Amino acid sequence: MDTTESLSAIGIYGGTFDPIHYGHLRMAEELADIIGLQRVIFVPSGSPRLRAAPAAARMARSEMVRLAIQDNDRFAVDEREINRPGISTTIESLREFRAEFGSRVALCFIIGADAFLKIDQWHEWRALFHVCHFVIVSRPGYAPVDDRFICSGDIESEWTQRRIFSADDLKLQPAGYIFTPRTSRLEISASQIRDLAGNGKSPRYLLPEVVADYIRLNSLYIEKA
Ligand code: ATP
Ligand code: MG
Repeated sequence: MDTTESLSAIGIYGGTFDPIHYGHLRMAEELADIIGLQRVIFVPSGSPRLRAAPAAARMARSEMVRLAIQDNDRFAVDEREINRPGISTTIESLREFRAEFGSRVALCFIIGADAFLKIDQWHEWRALFHVCHFVIVSRPGYAPVDDRFICSGDIESEWTQRRIFSADDLKLQPAGYIFTPRTSRLEISASQIRDLAGNGKSPRYLLPEVVADYIRLNSLYIEKA
């Protein structure tokens, strides 16, 4: 492979998005600038393998992503996991993206530090490094992703071998690096928004108004007795 020519880069951002919020959106926007991502593709999960069933239905979570990103030309939503019956695995989706985009694109899988620390529980997790790069972002409440980032065992050895320090390096090969850029750390979580909505409190200013409206109109996250 010729590694001198710079590849174009695409961000793949998987999550439950139950619901999508400004923590997700701001981080993706900053990464698009830092890395020069042509596009960030949000991939709402179907039935996740490693966590409790999401509170909102698949289509509702996907629709909230669509509403949240509709005016952003660099952002797109992909419904392959929503439409896939049964349990979702990220490796399956990433292999499909790789087949669709071909080998001359740097696929950058975007993930928060909290999720990366459990990456060794993901289905075929080591295979992910052959299909994509990892872009890991810090999250309030978790160890910052920097030289003191604490990961252990098998994750640590991947981290040590694969880490790169320049966004430009991501475009030197299609997959296999770990990059840890500095992004704003917004202390927002979907759990917090579900709790607020469930308790009849306002989640306003934590997420786009259009998503808050959708939650209200569809009575999402209200505990049904
Ligand atoms: P929940 O509270 O339900 O777990 P969440 O806010 O963590 O929701 P997810 O859909 O679980 O949202 O997150 C998808 C991805 O986005 C994960 O990789 C997660 O680490 C990351 N992420 C979520 N919120 C933030 C945030 N505020 N800043 C940076 N990354 C985030
Ligand atoms: Mg989460």
